Amino acid sequence: MPVISIWNKCNSNCIMCTNPSDFQAKDSYDNYGFNELKKRISAAKIFDERGNLIDDKMILTGGEPTIHPDFFRILSFIKRIFPPVIIELDTNGRRFCYDSFTKKVLRFKRINIYTSLHGFNAKTHDAVTRTPGSFLQTIKGIENIFKYKNLGLHELELRIIITKLTYKYTEKILEFIKDHFPEVDRIVIIFMEMEGQAKKNFKIVGLTYTQFRKFIPKIAKWIPEFKGFRFYHFPLCTIDHSLWKYTWRTLPEYEITFLPKCEVCLYKKYCLGIHKDYLEKVGSDEFKPIKKKYIVEGTTDKYRPIQNVSIK
Ligand code: SF4
Repeated sequence: MPVISIWNKCNSNCIMCTNPSDFQAKDSYDNYGFNELKKRISAAKIFDERGNLIDDKMILTGGEPTIHPDFFRILSFIKRIFPPVIIELDTNGRRFCYDSFTKKVLRFKRINIYTSLHGFNAKTHDAVTRTPGSFLQTIKGIENIFKYKNLGLHELELRIIITKLTYKYTEKILEFIKDHFPEVDRIVIIFMEMEGQAKKNFKIVGLTYTQFRKFIPKIAKWIPEFKGFRFYHFPLCTIDHSLWKYTWRTLPEYEITFLPKCEVCLYKKYCLGIHKDYLEKVGSDEFKPIKKKYIVEGTTDKYRPIQNVSIK
């Protein structure tokens, strides 16, 4: 699906941001001015030559997409040229703390909002965003999104990015979400990507799959508590087979690779592969070909390859 970075500036300063540190320094109007964006949006493959819809979603990301000075003109333009499309906003959620902003966005209809919680209180969340006040704004933003959801919300997804700063209290974040936003459409647990500032700040935020693995069973206990639950960026050998049906392949192919030893893994065709930057920073020892036989019910969805797994 088309992913369009519409703005290189951000109002937060996350320590594990995947954008490089010079990303925000570039002149925004070189690549992100409204006229330039109109060209990039128009070129998105939403319809085929016959006018049939081939993708019903367009993802707007950044930086922080909601602070683009022409944000509403961009939404209007997309809805005008691609009326059936669902617009997904990958956002830190902070601007939604303003009621008028939230109402104006949702009135565009069929809006997906995907935002991350990095902690269960201001201290833990703001330590990751390095922006005092960001937790309170994000929480107020989520409250507003639910308050005005009937105006045009399609889905609200809450994400938890797993890093050295967050992995030990992921359960507490889930508990916070269940207490405050039980109606969320989906929770996504995302293992950090070691690129951009995350790579630069590896000593502070870097984490291995092995370090995280013992926390996964505690997280899995929360799956029945929510309407939807996913794991992103997990090669299959880093997670128990009982959770494979929740794993999704969302990394672009050019960012991942397989090892020579993966060739003998019985489940390679269902596996996401390994992020190349992870191999560079951590190495390949953790990845072990799986030889135990399971009954895997596959799907035709390349993003979610496994429907179910049982033991032979
Ligand atoms: S061994 Fe390779 S193919 Fe098999 S699950 Fe691990 S990373 Fe994936």
